[in-house]
Amino acid sequence: MSLDTVSGRSLSILGATGSIGASTLDLVRRNRDAFRIVALTGHSNVAALAALAREFGAEFAAIGDEALLPDLRAALSGSGIATGAGAGALIEAAQRPADLVVAAIVGCAGLAPTMAAIEQGRTVALANKEALVSAGAVMTRAVTQHGTTLLPIDSEHNAIFQCLAGNDPVHVRWITLTASGGPFRDWNAARMGAATPAEAVRHPNWSMGAKISVDSATMMNKGLEFIEAWHLFPVGVERLRILVHPQSIVHSMVEYRDGSTLAQLGPSDMRVPIASALAWPARMTTPCEPLDLAEIGTLTFRHPDEVRFPATRLAREAVIAGGAAAAVLNAANEIAVAAFLSGHLPFTSIVQCCQDVLACGLPGSPQCLDDVIAVDREARVRAHETLMPSR
Ligand code: NDP
Ligand code: MG
Repeated sequence: MSLDTVSGRSLSILGATGSIGASTLDLVRRNRDAFRIVALTGHSNVAALAALAREFGAEFAAIGDEALLPDLRAALSGSGIATGAGAGALIEAAQRPADLVVAAIVGCAGLAPTMAAIEQGRTVALANKEALVSAGAVMTRAVTQHGTTLLPIDSEHNAIFQCLAGNDPVHVRWITLTASGGPFRDWNAARMGAATPAEAVRHPNWSMGAKISVDSATMMNKGLEFIEAWHLFPVGVERLRILVHPQSIVHSMVEYRDGSTLAQLGPSDMRVPIASALAWPARMTTPCEPLDLAEIGTLTFRHPDEVRFPATRLAREAVIAGGAAAAVLNAANEIAVAAFLSGHLPFTSIVQCCQDVLACGLPGSPQCLDDVIAVDREARVRAHETLMPSR
């Protein structure tokens, strides 16, 4: 066993059939004695969910798409694994007693189950950044109220979490989120205007799901991460900044007021931050290659270009605007990314759509989960209306 001090840790994974789910389960597979799988969820991929549930001896498998329950039951018949489908089943998966819940559903679809996990007051490892961006203070309040430990899996936030350990945030001068710059980092506006979905999902450094890959190409991913960081690390918006770092080796940094900068470095492999959360506060071995800085040779940094990539500016403005702005931005982005991926929207119209929907100025300041879900719904309707002429 390669975990030093962790054993018999029970684990549920929301979004087990996705990219983060696969990386998490790869680590579990290599440390079978250390973890017990309680619940796994998917949305449409019944075959993958059933195979994972059988392989890891899950107690419960839940599929998001209700219509697929008979297929899931058939695929798991004779296994003794309990099954469920639909929104209620995802929440049941999140609520089943487990030491750690990995929240790795993509998009605001993961919000209700993530909140349900948080309300259990145990430990939640958060990959599903859209849930935190949308719910914001509603989620962070629930974390405090229920005494939940929230461990960020997003590589930048995991890096910052590690760099802040043992330090009082009052001493922080800067938190710097690094960004690869995505596949179109050096493309001009005309070339980006003609970018195809296949080009957008071909990330130079990371292998990820389709939605976050497109977010990375528009740099909306960094915008969402800016908002995520603002909630997770309350140092104030003026102390958060972004630097483009094409090598994706320095995953983020914290500069203290005495002039010390702490950074977390590692390979571009999500198994590193996931392992940090799975074993926290201990450490576990991963199969990732050791970092060979002599081989890498050069690490470079530059300021983001917010003319070609306005998404980070929109995100910063949403933080400053407060209220429902971040939830609106996230919802509009989800609709626009889906339209781009299905071939109905030019790449450069994704962020334009977000800007247009934000300009509609949805009122209000969500106070509870239902408020957030209502804003999310309304913003999606606005986004569809905004996109109508492009279709
Ligand atoms: P994927 O698209 O690979 O996987 C998404 C998962 O969510 C799948 O299990 C999918 O099920 C499930 N899902 C999709 N839609 C729904 C829905 N409507 N209801 C319930 N479940 C649903 O995404 P990633 O793993 O790449 O990303 C997951 C989250 O982690 C995102 O929020 C992303 O921003 C974040 N993240 C990802 C990183 C990465 O490297 N991939 C890095 C940092 C953060 P099914 O497969 O059955 O359709
Ligand atoms: Mg990230």
